Amino acid sequence: MVKTSTAVHPSPRSRVQAMKEYHPPLGNRDALRLDFNENTIACSPMVCEVLGKISAGHLTRYPEREPTERIVAEHLGLDAEQVVLTNGVDEAIHVLFETFLESGDELLLPVPTYTMYEVYSSATDARCVAVQAADDLKFPFERLLEAITPNTKIIAIANPNSPSGSVASREQILEIARRATQAVVLVDEAYFHFHGETVVDCIGTIPNLVVARTFSKAYGLAGLRLGLLAGPVELMRWVRRVLSPYSVNSLALACLPAALGDAAYIDRYVGEVLAARSEFEAALDAANVRRWPSRANFVLVEIGEKHAEFVRLMNAGGVLVRDRSNDPGCDGRVRITIGTRQQMREAASVLNETLAKLRAGRGSQ
Ligand code: PMP
Repeated sequence: MVKTSTAVHPSPRSRVQAMKEYHPPLGNRDALRLDFNENTIACSPMVCEVLGKISAGHLTRYPEREPTERIVAEHLGLDAEQVVLTNGVDEAIHVLFETFLESGDELLLPVPTYTMYEVYSSATDARCVAVQAADDLKFPFERLLEAITPNTKIIAIANPNSPSGSVASREQILEIARRATQAVVLVDEAYFHFHGETVVDCIGTIPNLVVARTFSKAYGLAGLRLGLLAGPVELMRWVRRVLSPYSVNSLALACLPAALGDAAYIDRYVGEVLAARSEFEAALDAANVRRWPSRANFVLVEIGEKHAEFVRLMNAGGVLVRDRSNDPGCDGRVRITIGTRQQMREAASVLNETLAKLRAGRGSQ
């Protein structure tokens, strides 16, 4: 039991008091995990090999980020000073917002999009300006351009976007960067491997472009917490001032080169997911379920008013999926992560049984 007392406690900043609590539904996940867009099998065996060799002595030392940053920079074709490793992309977003957003500034977001942009911006004194996508959930390029003001300080674009799976083109991103030179344009390429297109090659030549990447998705290392920001040296220097020097732990730093080095593993996993996505999309079409085109390892589907019941029944059938009904413009929609073909055949079979129950009105039994 948590002890509460009647004593008067120190109060946090008013901004923090107004923040919504965010609790990702992480409990009881011993099932087919199609709810968090994780890798659904395992990381590269080369990473496990490194982990197995970590000594107690290694753990006694504070982690040193820079040598691993040099390796990552080389992998991306960048200079070491253009790359900052972070404790997952979540920390990258948090630190970037803390570095650049202050009172009077605006964070510009096409929505629906990744929840944590709004969460982290709500802890700053900036205002969050949302640009709603149309029902097709395509990137609202024109309206985003129109929403840029002299106060726009960060524009965050998840590319591919979540939960829609839609993408912004390279030309659109570069045009936005040209039209908002006073703003940091953050392109969050968390799902890059499933899409294959990047703007990381523009880092340095475009003074306000910053790219984020994660090791939580294709690489299968969500538990290690590894992400990165790549951007102009001048911007990364500010970010480094705000970032804790030890936020990326030494196990993650030791494993990262092995993860990057096993390109064949990534090719195999991504190939498998893309094949599974096509098969699963065909199964959705056959079941008459509306879906949105996806360039990532998930697909958003329309379930309608019985969305909560759908998620509950899928869960009972051993398949975890994520209700996105609270996302702007997503009422009745559910996001399903794509795993392997075998896993998605199982998911399709549970989905068909679930839909049959819902359509027969037997959902609540
Ligand atoms: N960006 C997007 C678009 C995501 O979907 C996620 C994870 N769901 C993240 C960032 C966070 O990734 P990480 O695990 O590296 O914090």
